Amino acid sequence: MKIVVLDGYTLNPGDLSWKDLEALGECTIYDRTLSEEVLARSKDAGIILTNKTVLNGDTIRQLNSLKYISVLATGYNIVDVEAAFEQAIPVSNVPAYSTDSVAQMVFAHILNLTQNVGHHSHTIGEGCWSRNPDFCYWDKPLIELNGLTMGIIGFGRIGRAVTKLARAFGMKVIAYDVHEPNELPKGCRMESLDEVFSQADILSLHCPLTSETEKIINTKSLSRMKQTAFLINTSRGSLVDEQSLAEALDKGVIAGAGLDVLDIEPPEKDNPLFEAKNCFLTPHIAWATKSARQRLMDVTVENVRAFLSGQLINVINGVS
Ligand code: NAD
Repeated sequence: MKIVVLDGYTLNPGDLSWKDLEALGECTIYDRTLSEEVLARSKDAGIILTNKTVLNGDTIRQLNSLKYISVLATGYNIVDVEAAFEQAIPVSNVPAYSTDSVAQMVFAHILNLTQNVGHHSHTIGEGCWSRNPDFCYWDKPLIELNGLTMGIIGFGRIGRAVTKLARAFGMKVIAYDVHEPNELPKGCRMESLDEVFSQADILSLHCPLTSETEKIINTKSLSRMKQTAFLINTSRGSLVDEQSLAEALDKGVIAGAGLDVLDIEPPEKDNPLFEAKNCFLTPHIAWATKSARQRLMDVTVENVRAFLSGQLINVINGVS
């Protein structure tokens, strides 16, 4: 069966191997595919793999050879899974391959904000240490995490992995989730959303993007936070009203932000957060450690192998 990978570059820019997938069928692997190219490239495909290339209902209904879709990610909002269901096409995803890598990125941003490693390295390069009368200098606050409160919104897989790391740093953890968890790790308690906003020294977002969570970070919620608080977002950019956050950072409503995701990706050149005070950005790479991408590749190969042997795994649209 023909396998088409519509946008394989971010999974494997060259440091992994496609050979296990290629062993399963005649593979065509595109780095990226424009929306107007999807139909022509997919017309003979029995299996389509897509990461961020949209497969809408119209497209799915026109692809007569299509038997199976596997999304090269956990989030599958780019595929019209109901249209696929109506055509009896199973859609699989890859759950939880990047949980530990995302939690690690949360702490990369937290440690950057609390210790200013990049800033100090940069100012040493400008000669500040050499000109300094003392053996050391710091020109931004240095903050110990031990004893501080980590607030988490969305206490799922990544929220729990972040909790484990926060506890190892001696932090207290308070969390808000729409579902009451069955058990809680030691040193962690559930709180109302209001309490999480007002008590957190560091607030980290781990809920999905839904109509309820869109722009959950806005002028009103930011005004409830401590002036010394840091906001971390590795979840989805649209959880944050970016103009409001930029204004809050510039006015000192909160102390800083570390963001791996933005509302529009890649962002417009004039995104207000680029110039905002104490705002640090990474380009949606929390998922992209080599270990996590290898797991993504391995589970995708398992998804396709299982489909070809008539045993579906990781199906998210109810086709069996
Ligand atoms: P998960 O499904 O395990 O956890 C999400 C949690 O959010 C669940 O416990 C759910 O009950 C809760 N939730 C749902 N609606 C909520 C609401 N309105 N308020 C509060 N909590 C709510 O998901 P996960 O694996 O922990 O992933 C979390 C998010 O991280 C995903 O939405 C995904 O977008 C993002 N993510 C980002 C990257 C990256 O590279 N930056 C990588 C992987 C995942």
